[in-house]
Amino acid sequence: MKILITGGAGFIGTNFCHYMLGSHPDYDIVCLDKLTYASSIESLNDIIDNPHFRFVKGDICDEKLIDKLFCEERFDMVVNFAAESHVERSIADPSIFVTTNILGVRVLLDACRKYTVRFHQISTDEVYGSIPLDDNVTRFDENSTLRPSSPYSASKASADMLVMSYYRTYKLPVTISRCSNNYGPYQHPEKLIPLTIRRLLHGEDLLIHGDGLDMRDWLYVIDHCKAVDTIIHSDIVGEIYNISANNEISNINIMKKISSHMNTISSIVHIENRPCHDTKYTLDSSKISYRLGYNMKCNFEEAFANTIDWYLSHKSWFENK
Ligand code: NAD
Repeated sequence: MKILITGGAGFIGTNFCHYMLGSHPDYDIVCLDKLTYASSIESLNDIIDNPHFRFVKGDICDEKLIDKLFCEERFDMVVNFAAESHVERSIADPSIFVTTNILGVRVLLDACRKYTVRFHQISTDEVYGSIPLDDNVTRFDENSTLRPSSPYSASKASADMLVMSYYRTYKLPVTISRCSNNYGPYQHPEKLIPLTIRRLLHGEDLLIHGDGLDMRDWLYVIDHCKAVDTIIHSDIVGEIYNISANNEISNINIMKKISSHMNTISSIVHIENRPCHDTKYTLDSSKISYRLGYNMKCNFEEAFANTIDWYLSHKSWFENK
């Protein structure tokens, strides 16, 4: 099997490249990435010389490059992680979010049609919008209404709709997964966990939006990779799967857990909430379990501790980002 992994120099894509080469050593993996500020080519150092791996620098919006790559490589499958992914940046300037997250997906879908390639889109729980903190009943399943709050989540919701339209219109074999907040190695330090570790290391204040009570469902990135692996190896197409860990923890408690693991204390400073701040998402991810037999496997305390230790032992990796 030959797979194109787009956005493979970003956080989850890097983990997915490592995971796929480890668990399917006979597969050929081509990683295409534009190498934006969020990426890290060093994260691929230990697989770059693997004969089953090829890295290509390029933009998913570049129709000519994509056509040439599909024509040369004859992929069986595309897994699309490429995206602009930072909510706050999408508030400052939505335009690149629309370009990459929607128009870029259109380019990939048309290449998949032309060369008869199966397509998997990595989406997000944020497409469903927010649930009030005191609502302990609502859970979003795959049929829930999409009510994205930010330009980022709106661009991801638009891409999901486009992907499903290619299934309905052209019978393109597609699947979509919508995951909750991932944690694990190789995440850019603009995001909560590596940022908190870095600030603690530097003795800086920890900044948190609002009261910090917003809940996120924390999913270990390797569990996410395994779930995507299960979806793309199933014969069932035209389906959307939620992926979460049933592990809701408030942002402020995540900070406190990191602080306690590192045995280091810094003041927590509350800053103004973003205009499109979501309080929680709570996913029902039973479908992937009953349709595909996949259940999340990792133990949170262990995987979380290992994640913090990974950053502490890779300081040079994230200090200069
Ligand atoms: P990331 O920002 O760490 O990585 C994105 C990668 O895409 C980067 O390497 C970047 O260089 C690349 N990229 C951006 N624009 C590109 C373009 N035009 N062409 C080619 N490459 C491009 O993001 P991530 O956290 O790894 O997220 C991956 C996917 O998972 C995204 O689609 C995101 O929406 C989704 N997601 C992430 C999370 C999370 O917790 N990180 C949660 C839900 C969904």
